[in-house]
This record gives sequence, C-alpha cells and structure tokens, in this order.
Amino acid sequence: MQIILLGAPGVGKGTQARLIMERYHIPQISTGDILRAEVKKASPLGQKVKSVMDRGELVSDDLMLQIVENRLKERDATHGFILDGFPRTVPQADGLKKILLKLHQGNLKVIEISLPDKEIIKRLTARRVCPNCGKLFNMHSDPPAAGGRCNQCGEKVIQREDDKEETIKNRLAVYRKSTRPLIEYYRQQHHFYQVNGMQEVNEVFKDIVAILGEQAAVQN
Ligand code: AMP
Repeated sequence: MQIILLGAPGVGKGTQARLIMERYHIPQISTGDILRAEVKKASPLGQKVKSVMDRGELVSDDLMLQIVENRLKERDATHGFILDGFPRTVPQADGLKKILLKLHQGNLKVIEISLPDKEIIKRLTARRVCPNCGKLFNMHSDPPAAGGRCNQCGEKVIQREDDKEETIKNRLAVYRKSTRPLIEYYRQQHHFYQVNGMQEVNEVFKDIVAILGEQAAVQN
C-alpha cells in the first residue's frame, strides 16, 4: 500500500496520515517532520534548511529526493508507506517515480484532500503541534488539555514558526505555483482520488478507507 496524500498545507494531510498509519500499520513519511527534526537537532542539514522553511519556501528538489530515497530504503517502508508533504513539485514526482522503480515498488494511490483557501487560513492559524510526539491540535475544534498540554504525552504544545499568518500566505502561493500542477500530473498517470476536506476528520478518514479498502482487503 503506497499512498501519496496531496493537498495544500493545512488541509489535514498529517492528521489523516496518522490515522492511516494506525489502521494499516504502514509508516507516515512526512518530509516536513523529517526536516523539522533536523532543525531541532541543529544538524548541518537542519541549519541549511531552517531559513527556507521559516519563509515558507521549498527546499531544493535534489535534497528532498535524497532524503526520501534514504527513508524509503528503510525496512519499515518495504511493505508500504504514506507520503505526506512529498512530492511537492513535478521534478520531485518524476524523481519519486525513478526511486520506486529502482526499489521495485510502484503501486501508488494518490489522494488529494481539497479545501477552500479561506478555511485553510482559518485552520493553519489555529493549528498547534506537540513538539514531543507530533500530535496535532486545533485551538477551536480540537484543543489541547488544560494549560495547553498535549493530551497524549503532556508536553506543552506550540505554534509552528511557519503557521504565522504572513508565512501562511506565502506557503499558499508556493503551493499554487509549484504543487498544484501535481494534481493534473497524477490524474493522468496514476490511481487518483479526491476527498472533500471540509468534512469532519472521521468522515474524511472514512472516505480514505473506502478508497484503500479494496486494496487492503486483497492484502489481508
Ligand atoms: P510541511 O510540514 O509539509 O508543511 O513542510 C514544512 C516546510 O518544510 C515546507 O514549507 C518546506 O519549507 C519544507 N518541505 C517539506 N516538504 C518539502 C518538499 N517535499 N519539498 C520542498 N520543501 C519541503
């Protein structure tokens, strides 16, 4: 089961990826999470990408492809994976195709979660994340526990640097220019599905399970 979750920042890719991971036992590969972990460690890679990420720009395709190739070679990804936040450009999608061929994998399902811009901005400004376990919260619809603590691990939740309003606008512009063309790209090349992100989290997940269900039934 190889899944790409497509969609603008804030449509719910991370939330859905976690639900898919729990249900189907395949790893969530979030390139944003991988990069944020490097920034946190202040590794050479982290230092290189921090300012790009803070501005809401994209890290170079070559670097991203290298990161994803290494991650897909890890053992837990051999029976499937959920890509969340990758690919984000047509060259990344072309590169991914080559990597999957090399790894003898290539049974992708691409699921786009769609949401109007106005709702995206509302959700991103209300988004908080646990810096320890990665659990996502929404200050309106799914707030953290008392004192702004993660209800899973107790850490104090934070707002991502790039979830501030000025940066969100730039991220959406970058999405429209560089990532949205991937919808046409995959519509023509792969099993492509669209899900309405305006629904409740559980309803979105039900739609995704319906898309994946047939394949999961074959595998089980
Ligand atoms: P995300 O958590 O997916 O919103 O990613 C946060 C930031 O990490 C993005 O705004 C980019 O700066 C960087 N990033 C994550 N994934 C990619 C990617 N596939 N290509 C380029 N930059 C990325």
